[in-house]
Amino acid sequence: MSKYIFIISLIFSASSQAQIASSKNYTADYQTKALSIYRDTIAMRTAKGHNQVKVMAHYLADRFRDGGFDENDINVIPFISPNGEEIASLVVRYQGDDSSGKKPILFAAHMDVVEALKKDWEKDPFTLIEENGYFFGRGTGDDKFGTTLLTAAFLRLKSENYMPNRDLIIAFSGDEETEMLTIEDLVDNHRNLIDAEFAINADSGGGSLSTEFEPISYQLQAAEKTYADFTIKITNPGGHSSRPTKKNAIYDLALALSEIEAYTFPTQSNDITLEYFKMRATAEKNELGRAMQQFSLNPKNIAAAELISTYSGQVGIIKTTCIATMVNAGHAENALPQSAEANINCRLFPGVKVNEIHSKLREIVSNKDILIEVSGNPKSAPASPLREDVMAAIKKAVHAQFPDLPIIPYMTTGATDGRALRAGGIPTYGSTGQFARAEDSFAHGLNERVLVKSFFDALEHWQIVIHELSESK
Ligand SMILES: [Zn+2]
Repeated sequence: MSKYIFIISLIFSASSQAQIASSKNYTADYQTKALSIYRDTIAMRTAKGHNQVKVMAHYLADRFRDGGFDENDINVIPFISPNGEEIASLVVRYQGDDSSGKKPILFAAHMDVVEALKKDWEKDPFTLIEENGYFFGRGTGDDKFGTTLLTAAFLRLKSENYMPNRDLIIAFSGDEETEMLTIEDLVDNHRNLIDAEFAINADSGGGSLSTEFEPISYQLQAAEKTYADFTIKITNPGGHSSRPTKKNAIYDLALALSEIEAYTFPTQSNDITLEYFKMRATAEKNELGRAMQQFSLNPKNIAAAELISTYSGQVGIIKTTCIATMVNAGHAENALPQSAEANINCRLFPGVKVNEIHSKLREIVSNKDILIEVSGNPKSAPASPLREDVMAAIKKAVHAQFPDLPIIPYMTTGATDGRALRAGGIPTYGSTGQFARAEDSFAHGLNERVLVKSFFDALEHWQIVIHELSESK
């Protein structure tokens, strides 16, 4: 680095100091309480296999007890995960006066985190460390941000004797990052505890900041694609490789894979993706922006759809995709392969059924000796129709901080607990209240971090969202 550049970069870092907030500036009782919950739960290594999910569920249950919640409204629900670990979900009900006559609202987040190894991180991942305006630690973003903010919001409202006009429910799952079975357990076996008109999931959505910490937009997640794996497999009698036969499992598999590669699933859209493309179009200045604009006006515009499909970040938003991700074939260098198989990973557009895709793959693969099987038990979920009340509440909360900031509904191509809730008939909207720069996004990765300012701003964000959704006007 030359001296000149070094001086410039010093000036830049000095100007970004203006963005730096310290937790020492946030001294209200509810703020210090939220920070202590954040610190205590980040210290719990709730990654798979460390027996801390249950510990965290009980720790939070105690916070709700201390906060005046009735014992009957606090439920730690034990669950044995497939590896034999005892995990748990936590469900807490905030009783309203029922004056609205409406079903409850569910607020979801997950207690588990992706594993983090101390030796790989610059700092201890399981100690909340504040530095240069950031909180560092595994789960600071995903998703102890969500569990802390929701817990703190409920405790604060209770301490203010707030009476919602309907019940509010917290549901924290225990294995979102791995099997996602605890959320299914709640949907299938404890429906009475979590049944709601709709859910806000504090595990997706949120605001984007530019490199200079300027707000760009706020995203509300209203749909997720369904994740489904298919195994395609062929077996042959095999034999000695010096005496090749016409039948060869590897060639058969290769042909089937080429047929799948050549197939393009039809373009699809829903009100969320059309709204997303419409709003994103204004931010994209290039040909992609123009195509998004055209597609949002006319989803039958084939040229626009084709152009969008060439962008890997967008292709998943206009169609179901199926792609080969793993192959396994043969057993020796000098033997004809007795078997060859591949994994086809599909991401289904909301509303598309798993068995439809199964039949489609069957149709695409011309060799009928090839077996095609669904792996596991994927359930497809619909998109959640955009609701005016949810949009208005998020808008009010976001605009209290950043007036006029665009709010963009979107669909993710990955999956969260929201998928199981939607599949179970509870429309779900992902919104964390967190604002972050793209370059600070380290969820699942190393040195996960969240802006200190964003953490405390989100406390106010949730306060507004909950008031808006459960206050008689
Ligand atoms: Zn998450």
